[in-house]
Amino acid sequence: MTNEEAIKCIEDVLNSDYHYDESIGYQLTSDDFEWLGKAKEGLKKQIPKKPRKTRSEIVCPTCNTLVGSSPYCRYCGQAIDWSDEWWQYNSISIYEKLAYYRKKREESENN
Ligand SMILES: [Zn+2]
Repeated sequence: MTNEEAIKCIEDVLNSDYHYDESIGYQLTSDDFEWLGKAKEGLKKQIPKKPRKTRSEIVCPTCNTLVGSSPYCRYCGQAIDWSDEWWQYNSISIYEKLAYYRKKREESENN
């Protein structure tokens, strides 16, 4: 099951008119809705989103804090999609670009 499918399942439960299962006598409670909602938000952050570029900074698309070049936002945990690398070089200095490539190279050597 992918994260997208899991989110769909949770939404089906949350949006269903039937909050009671006769066969086992289970009634969904407000607790169930709360944890299902939290699980859904957590799963959504696992789906990588492209970072957002402001005038001079690259920020998390979910919480708008600086993300540097890490795979996850360190504030909210949003997975960041860096697949369009060209995109982030438009407004950064050559030194930032070199630092980025050095970090990438070091990461691949450590794996
Ligand atoms: Zn964030």
